[in-house]
Amino acid sequence: MSLNQFCSIFAPNFMRASTHRHILTVALLALTLFFLPLLNPVSAATPASSKKAAFTLVLDAGHGGKDPGALGTGRVKEKNINLAVTLAVGKLVEQNLKDVKVVYTRKTDVLVELDERANIANKAKADLFVSIHTNALPGKKKMAGSETYTLGMHRAADNLDVAKRENSVISLEKDYENRYEGFDPNSSESYIIFEFMQDQNMEKSVRMATLVQKQFRSAGRPDKGVHQAGFLVLRATSMPSCLIELGYITTASEEAYLTSDRGVNQLAQSIYQAIKKYKETQK
Ligand SMILES: [Zn+2]
Repeated sequence: MSLNQFCSIFAPNFMRASTHRHILTVALLALTLFFLPLLNPVSAATPASSKKAAFTLVLDAGHGGKDPGALGTGRVKEKNINLAVTLAVGKLVEQNLKDVKVVYTRKTDVLVELDERANIANKAKADLFVSIHTNALPGKKKMAGSETYTLGMHRAADNLDVAKRENSVISLEKDYENRYEGFDPNSSESYIIFEFMQDQNMEKSVRMATLVQKQFRSAGRPDKGVHQAGFLVLRATSMPSCLIELGYITTASEEAYLTSDRGVNQLAQSIYQAIKKYKETQK
């Protein structure tokens, strides 16, 4: 018997049996796939990683690396206070606001250029940018309290001083004259450009800054108010943003508070509460 003859005699039955088995297998597989999600709730849920965050928050710890920021009365550096509070805020958000994605411009002691900080936020298509800094005063002037800034056109000498100090880091960055289009952080004329800027995010930024100050006030911090100034790091961001000055590193009692666990936790808790309330008003 040739192979062809063998096949024509036996194969039809064999084929029929095989087809039945195949249909049965497919049916069983389909049933299993249909009921599996019901039996196993974990597989029914969308994996967390593929779920789009409802809200992206960028936390920006000011200064870092070779830029210490302002210096305290002792050896305390602004960059370390900023980072400690920023990480504490991030932890609170990550633990309690599950639909918020937190992006940090830095999580360690490294220098990140001002325009790169804004780039990180723009690339992440962030909903909110919060920059965290610590204030300083020249000479033996003493001051206590927290204040929050938004990008704006104030030309008050006090605000210009804060903006100059926070912007001066760019002179440590490579090729800053070209990167910031000739911006000189120490020249008052450079800040005139801010007067012409129409910031469409102004209203939301002020709302966030106001919420931050309200929370600081409830926590017993002296309220130094909401202000506007020409911060480069805020200028390049394309979403609502604010810059918080936690306290005055050059005042001994403030320096002690800003470096204590109690201070870091209290400040972080206030900022976290403000973020939470801000997010709720965006729905
Ligand atoms: Zn600073």
